[in-house]
Amino acid sequence: MPSKIIQVREYTVKAHKREIHTRIFNFVCKKCDQPTQRETFGVRPLYCERCRPPQAPKKSAVPLRTRKARPMTYKSDVDLANSL
Ligand SMILES: [Zn+2]
Repeated sequence: MPSKIIQVREYTVKAHKREIHTRIFNFVCKKCDQPTQRETFGVRPLYCERCRPPQAPKKSAVPLRTRKARPMTYKSDVDLANSL
């Protein structure tokens, strides 16, 4: 299948309700080897909820911009009071 790169514009989606189709999988966790059950969106999960909590904290890839524009300080050898 041919592939190409397209530009996707940024957009915001309002909060809304959506019907999603989930399935309950019975499987063995890859990490702890325990038989477990987990509800997912169609893809068979690999890990149980203990090994991979559903709401794992996301690591932000974007570094916070902490740099602030500083007011410029000019140093001058000329004493303004004497030059007037
Ligand atoms: Zn596990």
